[in-house]
Amino acid sequence: MRECFELRDTDAGGRIGELTVPRADVTVETPALLPVINPNLDTIAPRRLADEFGAEILITNSYIIHGTDDVRERALEDGLHELLDFPGAIMTDSGSFQLSEYGDIDVTTEEILEFQHEIGSDIATPVDIPTPPDVPRDRAEGELETTQERLEIAEGVDTGEMLVSAPVQGSTYPDLREAAGRHADGTDLDVFPVGAVVPLMNDYRYDDMVDAVAAAKRGLGADAPVHLFGAGHPMMFALGVAMGCDLFDSAAYALYARDDRYLTVRGTRLLEDLEYLPCSCSVCTSHSPDDLRALPDDEREEELAAHNLHVTFAEIRRIKQAIRAGNLLELVEQRARSHPTMLDGYRALLDHAEQLERSDPVSKGAFFHVSSESARRPEVVRHHRRLERLSVPDSLFLTEGQPARGDEFDDSWRVEPPFGPFPRALSRSYPLTAEVPERTDRAALSAAADGVARLAEVNPDTDLALGHRGWPAGVLERVPESVELIDLTSD
Ligand SMILES: [Zn+2]
Repeated sequence: MRECFELRDTDAGGRIGELTVPRADVTVETPALLPVINPNLDTIAPRRLADEFGAEILITNSYIIHGTDDVRERALEDGLHELLDFPGAIMTDSGSFQLSEYGDIDVTTEEILEFQHEIGSDIATPVDIPTPPDVPRDRAEGELETTQERLEIAEGVDTGEMLVSAPVQGSTYPDLREAAGRHADGTDLDVFPVGAVVPLMNDYRYDDMVDAVAAAKRGLGADAPVHLFGAGHPMMFALGVAMGCDLFDSAAYALYARDDRYLTVRGTRLLEDLEYLPCSCSVCTSHSPDDLRALPDDEREEELAAHNLHVTFAEIRRIKQAIRAGNLLELVEQRARSHPTMLDGYRALLDHAEQLERSDPVSKGAFFHVSSESARRPEVVRHHRRLERLSVPDSLFLTEGQPARGDEFDDSWRVEPPFGPFPRALSRSYPLTAEVPERTDRAALSAAADGVARLAEVNPDTDLALGHRGWPAGVLERVPESVELIDLTSD
């Protein structure tokens, strides 16, 4: 078990955890948001981030600090905590992104980590190579090799109590991401950023982002704290958390404010388009859109940044509460309705239902079937697997509702979309207590039919009959011919 990270609660791939940051003498509850602070221009002062927004951790860029003479001198002399006036944990980014954009690296891994240590960083980052999506495979492999060499050097640097992150690269090659995750997990480094996903998010490729994270997670152990590097829009936090990400950093709150963009959990709005402010934070309850538009530029920017942060932190709290209540996937479903590309992201997440099932609790509050996607949730996958282990009698009637013809068989089981068949004794156990709409969708019926098929497959010697209420032919086709079909609506 990694000493710095402890899990307290899980839901799907999401978790509430505690990241102990010894150098700051702080324990950060995850999922956590790290506001990005540019030491040269802070839109919202770090002290205010802690006091007003409850920020426990922030991230700043050691490359910018290194490159700005007076800031560098003050950071070396007084330390980052005093320079920024922030009481929580401070993570530093190495500037890999800037270095990769603006030329070759002329500093060694030792030097860059030692500099972060000297300025008082609590979590440092080595210089990795953020390989963009869709590059040729040999480039992704070569750059990953360099990143891995640097992580191995980083392991050997004496950094005292400072935690060090181990970025996971591999571009859009799932096997490389997985191998990178496994390699990083094998080092004694502490925090694991999934790197270079920003280009995917900028292009709304949430499905590809999900695949990249899922692959990295397969390589990383369950006890590895995972940072989705550069993911700062609250719209996608629930999706990221459900995949198993624990840390998010937001530069978006400030960058968007600069362009008069107003964040919501359903997407970004332009201030000029707003007639109402759909938020009850202190900024939005004390201003109208006209008030905000009339403010001088710097004041408007600060107010918008404050609103953007309120929305962002509120979403993190909502996600934590959803994990506690066991309805994180219901929240992801809601967010997936904000934009078609978010729906792609959710559908991609469900492609990994088997992977998420491993950390999904066996029992939760209630399963709400609220879309056709619900039929692909980890709970359904788990129930179908469970069907292989249930013992069955020689003849068995599977039926929706009451067992109309039950006495002709040894036993009668219930059939409920999207799960399929189960013994009546399990009716009160999660997830079979699910709330399902009366007007069942085809995906739920198909999943139930797949459950029947699974049961028939593993019990070839049992006489099975399915009593259904007018299931469409296309759904019934999924049930093997050995199962007798009885349409109860014709009774
Ligand atoms: Zn607001």
